Amino acid sequence: MPRSVNPYYSGLPRDHFDGLRFFNPDHPETDRGLRDLLRWKLKERAAPWPRSVPVRQTVPDARVAGLRATIVGHASVLIQAGGLNVLTDPVWSKRASPLAFAGPQRVWAPGIAFESLPQIDAVLLSHNHYDHMDMATLRRLHSEHRPLVVTPLGNDAILQRAIQGVRVLAGDWWDRIEIGKGGEVTIVPAYHWSSRTGRDRRMALWCGFMLSTAGGRAYFAGDTGYGNGLIFHEVRQRIGRPDLALIPIGAYAPRWFMSAQHTDPNEAVQILEDLEAARAVGIHWGVFQLTDERRDEPPELLLDALARRGIAEYLFPAGEPGLGYEPARGL
Ligand code: ZN
Ligand code: ZN
Repeated sequence: MPRSVNPYYSGLPRDHFDGLRFFNPDHPETDRGLRDLLRWKLKERAAPWPRSVPVRQTVPDARVAGLRATIVGHASVLIQAGGLNVLTDPVWSKRASPLAFAGPQRVWAPGIAFESLPQIDAVLLSHNHYDHMDMATLRRLHSEHRPLVVTPLGNDAILQRAIQGVRVLAGDWWDRIEIGKGGEVTIVPAYHWSSRTGRDRRMALWCGFMLSTAGGRAYFAGDTGYGNGLIFHEVRQRIGRPDLALIPIGAYAPRWFMSAQHTDPNEAVQILEDLEAARAVGIHWGVFQLTDERRDEPPELLLDALARRGIAEYLFPAGEPGLGYEPARGL
């Protein structure tokens, strides 16, 4: 057997890299074998989702001096802060899949038509799963906006092979990257994994981001489990409280399969508290059916979790495509 080679990244082993693959320190295994996959698909039943739901598209302002996050859908958010326009994990495609004819289909159209986007300065790309790294969208962004793509280690190689001339900067957890106009992005840890081809499991890194600008600070969790919660406390200690935190609330069922890699709404609220975020918005729900829960269950469980902790609902709404969210005033 030839020794496996990482096609994306080479570097010395360290606390979250074993020389071939990245891993989550002090976190339960995220790898799932065929047995677990079959057990999930054969024994559990996915709730039926509608084929499509209505959307009210919006046309964003050209620039925002303060801080506003407008939901496109799933993990795609337009963050406008301090005069910068930044997109997270941009996906405009109809499917979150390597195939045009199969795979999870979009049921909630993008909250912003691609043609209505303001000039995009930067893209924060958290990892290489197909519901986050959509090459068709990234190609179109490159040809029409030429944004700087900030991404964790290894994903730069994937992009450079797919998009000629792409502007990309890759970094490790805790690296800080300047994106112009006084804006700075810190690549922060997430508890997740990666794979694009099936033979490249955990060979490119995954992450969340903190975007610090003159207009405020926004946190984007990427995909993450909760685990022991240490990484969220550490983000708070090392960088500070975010004014707005984008936290995933969907794709969590069944828990025995998903909990190491995706938070449920209750854990999402715990992350808000760990970060001491002034306000959060729930993302990664209602657009692509990846898992078994009902489509409208994440917002319901989010309300339950907030009520149990005595947190006002407006401090953590479930984000809806086409709506813009700003930090809560007076907090
Ligand atoms: Zn993922
Ligand atoms: Zn995802």
